[in-house]
Amino acid sequence: MIPHNCSYDEVLKQFQVNSDSGLSAEDASNRLAQYGLNKLEEGKRKSNLQRFGEQFADVMIIILLIAAAISFTVAWYEGKGFFEPFLILLVVVLNAIIGVVQEGKAEKALDALKDLSAPHARVIRDGKEMVIEAFSLVPGDIISLNAGDYVPADARIIRSASLKSEESALTGESVPSEKDGEALSDASASLGDRINMVYSGCSITSGTARAVVVSTGMNTEMGKIARLLDAEGDTRTPLQHKLAEMGKYIGFMAVGICVIIFIIGLVYGMNVMEIFMIAVALAVSAIPEGLPAIVTIVLAVGVQRMVKKNAIIRKLPAVETLGSASVICSDKTGTLTQNQMTLVKAFDAASETIEDISTANSPVIKKLLKYATLCSDGTVEFEDGRECHIGDPTETSIVMAAYKNGLTKADLNRLYPRQAELPFDSERKLMSTVNIIDGKNIVIVKGAIDVLAGRCIAGNVEAGRKHAEELSRQALRILAVAWKEIDTIPAILTSEELENGLTFMGLVGMIDPPRPEAREAVAVCRKAGIKPVMITGDHVVTAAAIAKDLGILLDGDDAINGTELLDMTDAELKARVPSVSVYARVSPEDKIRIVRAWQGHGAVVSMTGDGVNDAPALKAADIGCAMGITGTDVAKGASDMILTDDNFATIVDAVHQGRGIYDNIKKTVGFLLGTNIGEVLTVFVAMLVWQASPLLAVHLLWINLVTDSLPAIALGMEPVEKDVMERKPRPKGENIFAHGYGIRILLQGTMFAMLTLTGFLIAWQSTGDITSGRTMAFIVLAVSQVIHAFNMRSDHSLFATGIFTNPYLNGAALISFSLISIIVLVPSVTNAFSLTQLPVPMYILALGLALVPVVVLELSKAFGLVRHQHQ
Ligand code: ADP
Ligand code: MG
Repeated sequence: MIPHNCSYDEVLKQFQVNSDSGLSAEDASNRLAQYGLNKLEEGKRKSNLQRFGEQFADVMIIILLIAAAISFTVAWYEGKGFFEPFLILLVVVLNAIIGVVQEGKAEKALDALKDLSAPHARVIRDGKEMVIEAFSLVPGDIISLNAGDYVPADARIIRSASLKSEESALTGESVPSEKDGEALSDASASLGDRINMVYSGCSITSGTARAVVVSTGMNTEMGKIARLLDAEGDTRTPLQHKLAEMGKYIGFMAVGICVIIFIIGLVYGMNVMEIFMIAVALAVSAIPEGLPAIVTIVLAVGVQRMVKKNAIIRKLPAVETLGSASVICSDKTGTLTQNQMTLVKAFDAASETIEDISTANSPVIKKLLKYATLCSDGTVEFEDGRECHIGDPTETSIVMAAYKNGLTKADLNRLYPRQAELPFDSERKLMSTVNIIDGKNIVIVKGAIDVLAGRCIAGNVEAGRKHAEELSRQALRILAVAWKEIDTIPAILTSEELENGLTFMGLVGMIDPPRPEAREAVAVCRKAGIKPVMITGDHVVTAAAIAKDLGILLDGDDAINGTELLDMTDAELKARVPSVSVYARVSPEDKIRIVRAWQGHGAVVSMTGDGVNDAPALKAADIGCAMGITGTDVAKGASDMILTDDNFATIVDAVHQGRGIYDNIKKTVGFLLGTNIGEVLTVFVAMLVWQASPLLAVHLLWINLVTDSLPAIALGMEPVEKDVMERKPRPKGENIFAHGYGIRILLQGTMFAMLTLTGFLIAWQSTGDITSGRTMAFIVLAVSQVIHAFNMRSDHSLFATGIFTNPYLNGAALISFSLISIIVLVPSVTNAFSLTQLPVPMYILALGLALVPVVVLELSKAFGLVRHQHQ
C-alpha cells in the first residue's frame, strides 16, 4: 500500500484503527514490540572497554608505553628490578581508567539532558487524547498536530484545517507547503508533492490536523536518509577549541625542552637511560593531557546543576556563552509575570459603564462578558471545588468572570453554538468566532484595542480608547470586544472579511501580577552589568507600568511600540536600541531585528520565545531560550536552552551558573598549567646548573598524573562564587589568560620551581646525598601543589571563602596526601621510588616550604594584586 496514493479510509483499514478512538493501549504495546521504538538509530555507543582502548591512542600514552618498553628492556639486561616499567604501566592504566570514568560521566550527563528535551506527541488511544513520549508511537496511532509541533512520525492526514508543514529537512524547500488530507497524490509523486502526508522531523507551521501514523523510527523518510533530526553539530565550546589548540602548542614546546635536556644530559655524560626517562617524563608533565577531559566534566557537572535550577542546556557551547550574556530580552506574559490573570474591570462603551468584576455585575457588563466568553477557547472546570483553568490564562480569566456572574461556558456554548472561528495569533492580535445568537450569525471579535479600534465603524470607540489608556496605566492587560451580524458564513474565513466593519462593544481588563522573583532577578542583572529588556505583544502603557514596577524601565529609558519599530531603519534601530527597555505590540519578526541591533553593538544577547514564529529570533540570538511549558516544539528545537518553568529568574540563574562554570574551568586550567610549569622549570634549571635532576621519571609521572589530577577535577566542582554577578560580563571571545592571568600562572609555576630547588639543595648539601635531595624535592613539589589547589579556589582570601567549603577538594587533597605519605613514609615503597628517609627536621622544613605559596597568595590577595578584571 502506498499511503499517499490511497484514501485515508483505506489507510485506516490497513492499520486496523478507528480514527476517533485510536489504538487500544494493549494493541499499541504489541505493535511497539513488533515495530520497535520510534527513534532514529544513533551512532553505536562505545563500550567501556572500547573507551579504555581509545585512551591508548593518545600521543602521550604512546610515548609512555615506549618508555616503559625501553625501561623494561634495560632492566632486563642490567638485571635490575622491574619497578620503573611497572610503575609507568600502572600510571598509564590509572590514567586510562580516570579518563574512561570521566568520559562516561560526561556522556551520561549529556544524555540525561537529551532525554529531558525529548519530543512528545499527542495521540488518541482508547478514545482519549493523551500526550506520550514520541518514541513510543507505533504505526496505526492516531496523532493530532498543531502549529509549532514537530511531526513525530510519518503520517497520512485524515483531516486538517489550514495545515502547512515546513519540510526543508527532507526536501530542501524552506517555504512551508500546504497540506490536505482529502487530496490524493500520484503513487510516483515526490516527497514535496505528497500533500496528504506529513513527515517525521518536519514542523507544522500553521493549522491543525489529525493523522494516522504509517511508519516510525528508521522506516520513516527521515530514517531512510539517516540524518539525525536534531544534528547538534559541534558540541565543543569555543574555549575547548582554544584549549585544544593551546595543548598542541605546549606539546611542541615540551618536546623542544626535552630535546634540550636530553642533549645537556648527553654532553655531561649522564646515564643515558636515566636522562632519557627524565626527558620523557618531563614531556608528559608539560603536556596538559588531562585538560580536555576535565573541562568536559566541569561543563557536564555545571549543566547538571543548571537542570536543577530549571534550565536545560541543549547546546553545550551555550554554557560558555551564558557567562558573557550582556542583554537579556524577555517576554513579559508568563516570564516576567505569573500569567495568572484575573479579570478585575469591565467597561461597556454604549452606556459608558465601568465596573469592578463581582458576582452581580450590571446587565450590560454581563452581556459583554457573555460575548467575550463565547469568543474564548479556555475553560474553567471544578474538581472538588477547586478551580482548574485549562487553556490560555487570558481567556480563562474571562470565562471565570462570566462564571461568577452565573454564566457558565458550557451553557453559553450550548445556547449560542459556535459556527466558525479564526484563532488568535500574536501577529494579528485578534481572535474571532461566529456564534448563533437569537437566530442570527454574530461575529464576535476580541483582541488588542489599538488593532480592533481601527476595524470598528460603530460604537463609542473614543470612550473605549480613553478608558483603555486609563486602565493600562494601572498595569491592566486590556482586551477589546466588538461584534457584527452577517447573513451567511463564508466558506473561507479571512481576517479582512470577518474582522472589519465591527461595532465596538467594550473592554475587559485583567491583572497579571509580576513574578516576585523577577524583581530580584532584574536587580541582579543590573549589578552584573546585564541589560534586561521586556518584549511583549501587550499594550505599551500596560507593559511600561509593569516594567517600571519590576525595575526594567528606569527614568530616561524608552518604551516603544511595534509600529515605531517598523518605521525605523536597521541603522536607526541600532542607534536607539541601548536606551530602549520595553518593546510593546511587537510581532515575532521584530524580535530578530532587536537581536541583530544589539549584536551590532557587540552585545551577547539572550532572547526568549515560545511560538513557531519565534524560532528565527531564537536562532539569531546568542542564547535562544525556549519556554518549557508554553513553548512549541519548533521553538524548543531552535533554542540553546529550555526554561522548564518559563521564568525570567531562571535565565538570570543560568547566567550566574554560566559565569561560575567558566570560572571553574579557568581555575582548573590555571592550576594544571601552573603545576606543569613548576615541574618543567624545576628539572630544566637543575639540569642547566648542576646537570642533575631533582626528580626522576617516576616522580614526575606520579605527581603529574596521580596526585595533581584529583585536585584539578575537584577545583572544577567549586560552588559558584558569591560575587560572580557583581562583575561586568566577560567580553565575547576574551582570552582565558587575559587580565594578567597568564602571567600569574607563570609566576606561580616559577615559585614552585624555586621552592622545590631550594628544598633539593638544602637536603642535598646538608646530607651530601642526592637521593635525600630528591626526596625533599618530591615532598615539596607534591605537597605544595596539592595545597596550591586551595589557593586557586578563589581570588578572595581562603579564610573568607572558608578553607574546607569544597568537599570534593577536601577528599581529593586527602587522597593525594595519603598517596604522598605512603611513598615517603613506608620504607619499602620509598625505596621502590628511589627515595630515602629524611631526618625529621627535614620533613618539617619540606612542609614549611610547601606552605609558602599559601602565604604568598594570601598576601597578594590582601594587597589586591590578584583581582578579578572588569569589576
Ligand atoms: P504577550 O504574550 O507578550 O502579552 P500576546 O502576543 O500574547 O503578547 O498578546 C498580544 C495582545 O493580543 C494582547 O495584549 C491582547 O490584546 C491580545 N490577545 C492576547 N491573547 C488573546 C486572545 N486569546 N484572544 C484575543 N486577543 C488576545
Ligand atoms: Mg501571550
